[in-house]
Order: sequence, then structure tokens, then C-alpha cells
Amino acid sequence: MTTIASNLQAVRSALLDAAVAAGRNAEEVRLLAVSKTFPAEAIRAAFECGQRCFAESYVQEALDKIAILHDLPLEWHFIGPVQSNKTRAIAERFAWVHSVDRFRIAERLSEQRPAHLPPLQVCLQVNISGEASKHGVAPDAVDALAHDVAGLARLRLRGLMAIPAPSDAAEAQRASFVQLRMLFERLNRQGLQLDTLSMGMSHDFPAAIAEGATIVRIGTAIFGERIYHRETL
Ligand SMILES: *Cc1c(COP(=O)(O)O)cnc(C)c1O
Repeated sequence: MTTIASNLQAVRSALLDAAVAAGRNAEEVRLLAVSKTFPAEAIRAAFECGQRCFAESYVQEALDKIAILHDLPLEWHFIGPVQSNKTRAIAERFAWVHSVDRFRIAERLSEQRPAHLPPLQVCLQVNISGEASKHGVAPDAVDALAHDVAGLARLRLRGLMAIPAPSDAAEAQRASFVQLRMLFERLNRQGLQLDTLSMGMSHDFPAAIAEGATIVRIGTAIFGERIYHRETL
């Protein structure tokens, strides 16, 4: 068995264990394979093990891989910072964007989403750890942004995403994920119909699943340690 195959098997089994421990059905938690910095062959290897959803953070790198792999029925998710000069490529090539944090960007994605494609599926990225990240909407600005984005014709607002400050302690990890879940529940009480909590990475996905994650974004645990090349940064 290849490394990717055995890693995927281990991640799937840990995902199942975390769901069972939380009293949840594992089918409620989608595994998104984060393939940034890894070559198309690594994605093909994961596809051969049944993985269908892949996430990328750098537009040009992603477009190259999407072109190489066009023969496979893959679902592409964009999870990196969205620059306004890249919205058209994202609107044309991706099924999901997890990292919307400004209305102007959402508006461009909606305007540029091609008519022959289904609406672009969107999560708002929330900066729940304050200064730990410069990306993401502040928690006290989420409500207004969510209601504005929900009104855009060619987007479908599905939920919230966050990247908490890294911590090795399960309790601290859960505390961050609880914050995102509470914002999500509040928006649904206000009448939005959100179904997606995109939270949990290689080092903290069991805690995220315990707090209600419906998508976990896993890179290192599937593909190995990333080496950043100058051109991807
Ligand atoms: C790179 C990345 C991940 C994957 O992180 P790992 O720790 O390798 O699992 C998840 N989410 C986002 C937004 C990322 O940029």
C-alpha cells in the first residue's frame, strides 16, 4: 500500500472514532483533502483510494492541477486568501470557497460565477483567535456579512470556516471550535439556513468533530509535511 493510501485509511479511521465518541454519524463529516504544494500525482493517488474532494490555497498552482486532472470527477474547494484579481478564476473553476471574509469579494465571485454552473458554495472565514491571523471577518461583524452574502444571486452561503491559533491541548482546541459553532447557531436562529461548519485540520480534527464540524480540512496527515517552494508563496 502506498503512503497516501495508508495515511488516508488512518485519517478515515480516526474520523470515524471521533464521530462515534461524539455520538455523531460519521457520514455527517466530510473529509476534504488539502493538496496544496503537492503534485497532481498525489491527488490521483488519493482519488484511487476513493477521495473526491480536494482543497487548494494558491490559485495558479490549483489551476495547473485542475487542468492536469480534468479527466477525474473531482470537487475542488478553495481555502486560501481570496485576492480580488483572482476571483474570476475561482468563480469559474471551483465548486466551493471557504475563505470569503469581505463583501466586495463575495460580490465579485457572484458576478463572475458562470451561468451554466450551479451557484458557488461559500463559507465565511471567521477570525476567532483575534490577532493570531490577519484573515477572516471579526466575530462581531459576521452577522452583517452573512446576511449580505446570503442575498447574492450566484452564491449559496453554506456556513462558517475558521483556522484557530494552533494548540496541542484538546480543551483549548475545543474552546475555539465552540466559538465558531455558537456563531453558526446564532445565524441559524436569525433565519439563515446554514449546514456547514468547516473546522479541524490534521492536528485538531477530533476536537473539531466533537464540536460539530461537518467538513474537516486535512493536508499533512494525508500527504505528509509540506515543503513550500518560492513560486507557491
Ligand atoms: C493548509 C491548510 C489546511 C491543512 O492543514 P494541515 O495541518 O496540513 O492538515 C487546512 N485549512 C487551511 C485553510 C489550510 O490553509
